[in-house]
Amino acid sequence: MSAIDPVELAQALIRRPSVTPRDEGAMGVVQEALERLGFDCRRMRFGEIENLYARRGSSGPNLCFAGHTDVVPVGDERAWSSGPFAGEIRDGTLYGRGAADMKGAIAAFIAAVSQAPVPPKGSLSFLITGDEEGVATDGTCKVVEALEAQGEKIDHCIVGEPSSSEALGDMVKIGRRGSLNATFTVEGRQGHVAYPQRAANPIRPLIELLARLQAHRLDDGYPGFQPSNLEITTVDVGNAATNVIPARASGRLNIRFNPAHTSASLTAWLEAERLAFEAGFAGGRIGLDVQVSGEAFLTEPGPFVELIQQACGAAVGRDPELSTSGGTSDARFIRRLCPVVELGLVGKSMHAVDEHVPARDLQDLTRLYGDLIGRYFARFA
Ligand SMILES: [Zn+2]
Repeated sequence: MSAIDPVELAQALIRRPSVTPRDEGAMGVVQEALERLGFDCRRMRFGEIENLYARRGSSGPNLCFAGHTDVVPVGDERAWSSGPFAGEIRDGTLYGRGAADMKGAIAAFIAAVSQAPVPPKGSLSFLITGDEEGVATDGTCKVVEALEAQGEKIDHCIVGEPSSSEALGDMVKIGRRGSLNATFTVEGRQGHVAYPQRAANPIRPLIELLARLQAHRLDDGYPGFQPSNLEITTVDVGNAATNVIPARASGRLNIRFNPAHTSASLTAWLEAERLAFEAGFAGGRIGLDVQVSGEAFLTEPGPFVELIQQACGAAVGRDPELSTSGGTSDARFIRRLCPVVELGLVGKSMHAVDEHVPARDLQDLTRLYGDLIGRYFARFA
């Protein structure tokens, strides 16, 4: 079993233009590398999405690495200094879509496994999806359901999202806020602006309702989290006339919430407000549609989190901040199975033109993951 170079593997992955939902052979590159390392690979295809669960070993504890091979679109390709899927190295830096988010981290974890001694007890596994950047309905969410149904046991999980802020290992994510989108649709009655008594203007209750929701203080924060926030994202009427009261108006908002709330408690609050405003809106109706992107979660500091802090200290000399900032990630699905922490590259260039990672960071992350694997089985096996 020869050691795998993380930079070469990251290049091979970047050269597969796997913009969600396309795979373009990216999952095959991962599978081939893992099979060479003795992993038993299970492909899980849901809809048009390729997913992979790979495991080496049959006993516990099972340490899982989770990640995604899909990438966001490149935008204006002419704005890139080199081809976004060329995987070019210039002055010691690897450029390409997915370099930071997160083909680089997948390559580093596979390289770390190839370089580390096989632990005498326990298992290593990979949960890799092709649908994280898209709607994420046929990705990790479904894989987690399938693994639960098969009785697969995962004890701890590292998600390789680019968690670092300024320098590798300066930040890990131990939780995420939840996210919910709500759309209010107000149906009134159309009429002439000069005769408002004959119409029911839907914009009036919509403005008042949104203003009331926006003024409501959700909380003052939660240990380790920012305060929850409600943001109105669009108000749509589409009325081209100056003398017509429109029949319909809608408004949408997003709430990023900490563990002081659940999507159910927030939905109940929104529904109560909807009912109150509908009762006061003679001649009209108000509808509410809620879409939940994910619940808030927190992996409480404990032995697993401490071990990750120690590995960052030993491998790159940094004491990582434990953060819950940022958007949602697939950790929101995996937390149903086991404690989950996000640890990966510096995220500054992700989703941007000229996305890149210093080759040195890939080597350092490989050492960091390798140190972590060693500590994990020493502590938990
Ligand atoms: Zn990502």
